[in-house]
Amino acid sequence: MIDLEAFGEKARSWLNSVEPEFGRDARKGLTQDEDLALGRRYMATKYDAGFSGINMAVEMGGQGLTGLHKIVFEDAEMPYGMPSGYFGVSVAMPLQIIIKFCEDKAWVRERVIAGLRGEEIWCQLFSEPAAGSDLAGLRTKAEPDGNGWAITGQKLWTSYAQYSDYGIIVARSDPTLPKHKGLTYFWIDMRSEGVEARPFRMLDGEQQCNEVFFDDVKLHDGQRIGPIGGGFGVAMATLMIERYSGGDADGFGPPISAFVDLAREVEINGRPAIEDGRIRSAIARNYAMRSGLNAIRNRAFQMMEAGMEPGPEGSLNKLVSVRSRQKLSELAIDLQGGGGLAYDPEGFGKEDWVASWLSAPTGRIAGGADEMLLNTIAEKILGLPQDHRPDKGVPFNQIPA
Ligand SMILES: Cc1cc2nc3c(=O)[nH]c(=O)nc-3n(C[C@H](O)[C@H](O)[C@H](O)COP(=O)(O)OP(=O)(O)OC[C@H]3O[C@@H](n4cnc5c(N)ncnc54)[C@H](O)[C@@H]3O)c2cc1C
Repeated sequence: MIDLEAFGEKARSWLNSVEPEFGRDARKGLTQDEDLALGRRYMATKYDAGFSGINMAVEMGGQGLTGLHKIVFEDAEMPYGMPSGYFGVSVAMPLQIIIKFCEDKAWVRERVIAGLRGEEIWCQLFSEPAAGSDLAGLRTKAEPDGNGWAITGQKLWTSYAQYSDYGIIVARSDPTLPKHKGLTYFWIDMRSEGVEARPFRMLDGEQQCNEVFFDDVKLHDGQRIGPIGGGFGVAMATLMIERYSGGDADGFGPPISAFVDLAREVEINGRPAIEDGRIRSAIARNYAMRSGLNAIRNRAFQMMEAGMEPGPEGSLNKLVSVRSRQKLSELAIDLQGGGGLAYDPEGFGKEDWVASWLSAPTGRIAGGADEMLLNTIAEKILGLPQDHRPDKGVPFNQIPA
């Protein structure tokens, strides 16, 4: 097995060599479509260099290394701002799920290689207008249809569905069972008749999320992943895959060093802002917070290296880092006065304080809203009693809408 430190060195040297072609500066001013095309070329180049599917099995097209090697690469990659976001969900979850659950291994291998090379994109069709935090409350129907199924309903917030070739979807196959028990999980061809993805623009100008409509979309039973009624379990397995991924606390938005540079450049009352006590204390607070999170993360990695499962303290990472990024970005904008808000929404790939501030609210919702993370901390770390769950065990079709 390749030593982690040597692997990190090799990764950084490769990233430095491709930065001029794909890095943050190369992306400035590109439209989203141009940026996606650049992203596809980056993914193919990364695959050829042996940095894709790092912890996936070699026979599936991966590198056969460990989850820690993958994290080391992601940590190294994050500061470069490479155009890999379009493929983030696709590679992180759907590809891993089809490797784990689908039996036609030749088909899976083809999909995995095409996905890793950025030739195909998969999306994750879980959330709906009335089901996000409460995923088991979803209403999209999967009805038996001949030897297969017919899907009807609506998903919401689906990242990059407009570019996706395939998706993984959870739907309600039996409304007479309690909500967690009547769900079934499938893969779906996004080009099927009856599928329509409608992208919408976010506050930061990006068209990441979609509403996706399904009108009597036919699936064969071979597209089912896991047992009928076992969809919630597969959905949980999907969400657990990425509990720890790359990006240390400094990776959530612009690094503290960028804030320090800014505080040296701008003035408060005729003196460099860095000399102001409030600014110095904001820097110190952020530094201490990020160091604390990195210590928790390093402990989790040591547990993983020793073959143990890290605990629920991973919930702290996103909760604390995104909130503090939002506050620090707000302070950075304030420091720059009126010009601080100058922002070009067409400038994809730019990562400045405004972009960071505008996208922070979605960061506080996606992948588990703040309040849900607080619930996890309350119940799993502090051992407090669970929320009252009045719909527990009640057949789904008897729960008041
Ligand atoms: C940028 C972005 C990308 C996304 N990409 C995808 C994707 O690719 N695929 C996908 O399936 N989904 C995706 N999502 C959806 C995301 O998973 C949901 O937005 C998230 O789970 C929250 O669900 P919701 O939006 O329905 O909000 P709700 O669950 O309705 O929550 C609304 C508010 O109520 C609070 N709340 C809810 N329940 C409780 C409770 N029990 N206790 C205390 N407070 C509570 C929440 O914390 C939140 O503040 C994405 C979201 C965003 C913002």
